Amino acid sequence: MFFRKPFKPDKKEIKAEVWRKCDSCGETLHIAQLEKNLWVCPKCSFHFRIPAKKYIEYIFEKESFVELFNEIESDDPLNFPDYKKKLKKAKEKTGLKEACITGKGKIDKFTVCAFISDFSFIGGSMGSAYGEKFYRICEHAVSEKLPLISITSSGGGARMQEGILSLMQLVKTNLGVKLLEENKIPYITVLCDPTMGGVMASFAALGDISLAEKGALLGFAGPRVIEQTIRQKLPEGFQRAEFQLEHGMIDEVIDRRELKKKLIKILNILWD
Ligand SMILES: [Zn+2]
Repeated sequence: MFFRKPFKPDKKEIKAEVWRKCDSCGETLHIAQLEKNLWVCPKCSFHFRIPAKKYIEYIFEKESFVELFNEIESDDPLNFPDYKKKLKKAKEKTGLKEACITGKGKIDKFTVCAFISDFSFIGGSMGSAYGEKFYRICEHAVSEKLPLISITSSGGGARMQEGILSLMQLVKTNLGVKLLEENKIPYITVLCDPTMGGVMASFAALGDISLAEKGALLGFAGPRVIEQTIRQKLPEGFQRAEFQLEHGMIDEVIDRRELKKKLIKILNILWD
């Protein structure tokens, strides 16, 4: 009788990053299989965090995306210890100049502006360049009369190394959204894991339509901080996308594999 040996990938292969373990169900998955599945676990639907460039690849028509305002980069206005080093490292690691990409491209028949943040660049934190890029893409969306799609992931919100200048971006990004509103430009937000702190407390929470990826953590302070403050156990799934939907914070929880289709459907309703 034939017994199948339990699957165990080769150690060398793991080192070469051919395989990846699902953070939720523990299943060992082939990278190529994950790529094909838009980095969603085929077994449990866990959504892996992905870089901003992947969203561009998954949503926009091939080679239609043009980056804008790429020249705007963070400075070190407070001479914060090690901040320059940190920025340099983040740039090398991600190939980006800032924790977000702004630009425009085509989704189906629609030309849209986009703001996409990248968690792997200092936790997707919002410094002055990040806020400035958001405001500029709002202005661009207004002058070109194009809808704006914002895709966010940010661990802590404001970037503490820029102090009060970071906090000022909450106001600036809100003004950007106000500009869209005054000019009747649709603003669609896609909240990914995690969208927290100052990012969630400003422009990310203001979408005309707000979608969130399955299982994404969305809130201001994290559950651990809240538990320590109120000294109470929080309910299961607190601040997850599904919880926020139940409590009226967002409009829909979506599967990343359906994101493009969903955006086209919304654009057809709002912008045809
Ligand atoms: Zn899984």
